[in-house]
Amino acid sequence: MRLIAPISLVILVSFMALPIVAILLAARSQRRLAKIASRKNCPRCGELLGAKALFAANQWKRELFHKLMNEHPDIRFRLNWTFDFICSACGAHSAYCKETGMVEGVEAPETDVAQAKVTP
Ligand SMILES: [Zn+2]
Repeated sequence: MRLIAPISLVILVSFMALPIVAILLAARSQRRLAKIASRKNCPRCGELLGAKALFAANQWKRELFHKLMNEHPDIRFRLNWTFDFICSACGAHSAYCKETGMVEGVEAPETDVAQAKVTP
């Protein structure tokens, strides 16, 4: 009986820590991508990607997500992004490949809601 309170407290703190851990991991991922963008060039035009490319990609993703949420408030979306950067010089979409360590050009994703993976 004496262990129930401490165990409950540990479980409660663990659940409360999950969002914080998720935020910290996302921030770490963004820092890693910013570092990559500061060193890699656009695969299409050769310009240095820089922080602008990461910002543009994040802005693009945020705008699409808000558009989808406004158009379909009753649907839960789980979007799988296929790019990390949008070149500020030419607009090309590109992604960092962990296996090769290179930034590779990718097709611009569809913005049609039918292409989005829908979770019922
Ligand atoms: Zn470019």
